[in-house]
Amino acid sequence: MRWINSRQQTRDHAGQRNICAACGHDGTSRDPLINNTDGFRVHRSHTTDQRHGLYGTAQ
Ligand SMILES: [Zn+2]
Repeated sequence: MRWINSRQQTRDHAGQRNICAACGHDGTSRDPLINNTDGFRVHRSHTTDQRHGLYGTAQ
């Protein structure tokens, strides 16, 4: 089940639903935001890049 944490809920309510919680850039069709295991919305590419700290954290 997908979930978001309370900080991400606050971000969503502040109009930041499509802004990556990791890097601050917008999600795009090529690199959309996905929920990670900590409950944040982040670029999918962060979770598939072995050099990135979020590697492997996609929900
Ligand atoms: Zn990002």
